[in-house]
Amino acid sequence: MTERRSPVLPALAGAGLLAVAALAWWFTGRNADTMPDSTAAATAQRRPVPVIFYLIDTLRADRLGLYGYDKPTSPIIDALAKESVVFDRAHSAAPWTLPSVSSLFTSRFPCEHGVIRNQLRLSESLPTLAERLQAAGYATGSYYQNNFVGPMAGLSRGFQVVEFRQDLETLDLDAREFLGRVADQPYFLYLHSMEPHATYFAPRDLVKKFGYVSIDDHEAFRAHWIGYRMMWFADAKASRPVGSTDTTEGVDLAINNINALEASAHILYDAAVNFADIELGQTIEVLRQTGAWDEAIFVLLADHGEEMRDHGLWFHDQSVYEEMTHVPLMIHFPGGRHGGKRVSENVSLLDVMPTVLDFVGEGDACENCRGSSLLPLVDAAYGGTYRPSELPTMRWNVWGYYKPLKASRGDINVVVRDGDLKGIWNKEPGTVELYDLASDPGEQQDLGPSDGTRATAMADKAAQWLAQCEATKVAPTEVAPEDISSEDRDRLRAHGYFGG
Ligand SMILES: [Zn+2]
Repeated sequence: MTERRSPVLPALAGAGLLAVAALAWWFTGRNADTMPDSTAAATAQRRPVPVIFYLIDTLRADRLGLYGYDKPTSPIIDALAKESVVFDRAHSAAPWTLPSVSSLFTSRFPCEHGVIRNQLRLSESLPTLAERLQAAGYATGSYYQNNFVGPMAGLSRGFQVVEFRQDLETLDLDAREFLGRVADQPYFLYLHSMEPHATYFAPRDLVKKFGYVSIDDHEAFRAHWIGYRMMWFADAKASRPVGSTDTTEGVDLAINNINALEASAHILYDAAVNFADIELGQTIEVLRQTGAWDEAIFVLLADHGEEMRDHGLWFHDQSVYEEMTHVPLMIHFPGGRHGGKRVSENVSLLDVMPTVLDFVGEGDACENCRGSSLLPLVDAAYGGTYRPSELPTMRWNVWGYYKPLKASRGDINVVVRDGDLKGIWNKEPGTVELYDLASDPGEQQDLGPSDGTRATAMADKAAQWLAQCEATKVAPTEVAPEDISSEDRDRLRAHGYFGG
């Protein structure tokens, strides 16, 4: 079931200045295509080109062909990569949707925007990318299948069209509808796909491409997943502080049940990734048909990944290992400029907002952004210098979780990166895990105990940084449980984010 609200876009006919700007943009854009590349890059930047984000929820980078996966999950994305700038080491700010997208939309760390759990709404004093672009004359629209990125958490602020989609496979229609409204105006279109989020839905013919899973096994997987997630909400449901309830026995049982279906889970996840890939292809086709594809800067990304027993658990928001934090990120520039370039530096999703604002000539609107424009990494002709964040990801335990891991991981985890070296500072137990991602990409050999010097340095850096970050926190608004609509509750429950 989908809902359709009335459009609230400003009247285009009255926007004379925008029409002039749009003409100028077309004119300079077409000239730029005939120039030598570096000159074209310099000229092409800082124009009000359209901006399109396509976010695929819960997509592990390592399940895509372009990042080395050996199964055919992503032919569309792999082809897109050849026309785009691909960031090989992009990291989400947090391991689940709400804090991650809050950071994407504000270029602030989760410890600053504070939107780290249910019932919190982004402070109105933190400007969002959509607000910045709207202020610059953009028409804005958000179409999303994950309720966390809507009005409930304040993440629809700045979008003139806000549409939640219960059904999958609607984003191409949404794109067509939105583009039909804004033909002569620069625009920001945000599309958020809910695949391959659990319970890993994909049509049966897609599942068959990756192996055999009986309908009974898929149903059993779905049931065990629900049982597993319910353990996470034991405290919330009983209004107790997170971590009060010992759910170890129930979690162990659910993990064992899911582990027994491990092969099926991987097949289903791959099929769901493939399904997301096909949906993306349908949307790109619409963008090509409408001409948007050649005009817009198109950003493909994921909000976080997914654990599939890599470190003993399933699903997301429980750790900051690479399966959770390494996300696909690529930018298709207007006309396919810079296509095929790969960027190997560690970058963060906090960098996306500064990049876009820089590209469309609104870089000054990002003075308090914590991320840095990626354009200098794309082409030196853009000017400027990229400032990498060494601390791109953090996690709060906000649901309560598995007691044995609570003891070892604690409730706050901060990632520190130094090239291939990754440290995870676990605040409460005061430990640092250290991994060399070049030799140990799966983070199985903790070097922390044998490399005390580097581990201590990383812990100190993380601790100082966290204290500093929390000092700049802009408190979110607390939303009372009774103020969460039954519609919002139902949408969250459908994806396993509300107890009961
Ligand atoms: Zn998500």
